[in-house]
Amino acid sequence: MQLVTVGTVAFDRIETPFGKADKVVGGAATYISLAASFFLEKIGLVSVVGDDFPVEVMAMMRQRGIDQAGLEVLKGKESFFWAGRYHYDMNTRDTLETRLNVLLELDPKLPAPYKAAKYLMLGNLDPKVQAKVLDQMTERPALVAMDTMNFWMDNALDDLRKVIARVDILTINDAEARQLSGQHSLVKAANTILAMGPKYLVVKKGEHGALLFSEDRVFFAPALPLEDIIDPTGAGDTFAGGFIGYLAHTQDHSFDNLKRAIIVGSALASFCCEKFGIQRLLEIKREDIDHRIQQFVDLVDFDIELVEE
Ligand code: AMP
Repeated sequence: MQLVTVGTVAFDRIETPFGKADKVVGGAATYISLAASFFLEKIGLVSVVGDDFPVEVMAMMRQRGIDQAGLEVLKGKESFFWAGRYHYDMNTRDTLETRLNVLLELDPKLPAPYKAAKYLMLGNLDPKVQAKVLDQMTERPALVAMDTMNFWMDNALDDLRKVIARVDILTINDAEARQLSGQHSLVKAANTILAMGPKYLVVKKGEHGALLFSEDRVFFAPALPLEDIIDPTGAGDTFAGGFIGYLAHTQDHSFDNLKRAIIVGSALASFCCEKFGIQRLLEIKREDIDHRIQQFVDLVDFDIELVEE
């Protein structure tokens, strides 16, 4: 197994100012594994669903190399359900409903081949569950990335900080970086968070791109200005999946390669926003991703001559 990921596999109801989708397949681990599958042959999915989850979607994911030995299907139970409504800026949203359903019973047990994976992506979940996955790895993976959200900062800060201390890369949004660090300046926030343990921090800023911080370096990737943003749900997870998938494929953890991985993640996230749910991710091919990465290169390419005194 090249990459293992844990997170939700879900149904979502999404409302934007421009349209809605009643019950579409979503979930952090769904987006992460689909995005990573463009770069990897074998990904292990650790999650739980009810028997209401469509078997065709599971088959489609298997076809893309997403192994499901770590996915529990609970008979007679309902899958995790989330409903959200986006504000006019499409960057902020309110959660309308969260039905944990089967998630309450998620007690991850990693199949043997998963335990030796070199890359691990801990999707947004209860930090106790994230820790349980990390504990089961027989050897410390080459790279562990983690995503989380304000909910866990409000409700499980001690557990969250224990997991953060054990990972290499943390991905959160700007508001969460401020909350976790207690600092308004993102530079100060990054320093405070890096002192908690991770070597790198990725701060996602939605349509304003993403920042990558290490102890002594910083890199900024823009988001591609899209003509129409239909649904940003899953963009953060798609970003994370593309990012870790590219790193696992290249097996190069240098800062320069992390910069490339950020662009790859941003390119995939831009596709994700073009249609509701996972739909657009299922349409694109590797060539489309390459073409979009070139658009990112062009977007920030400029020459300037500085006058020397
Ligand atoms: P993102 O837009 O990248 O933040 O992720 C959206 C996905 O996260 C949706 O598909 C939801 O199913 C899932 N989700 C929403 N709330 C939670 C939660 N509290 N824990 C885990 N996953 C969630």
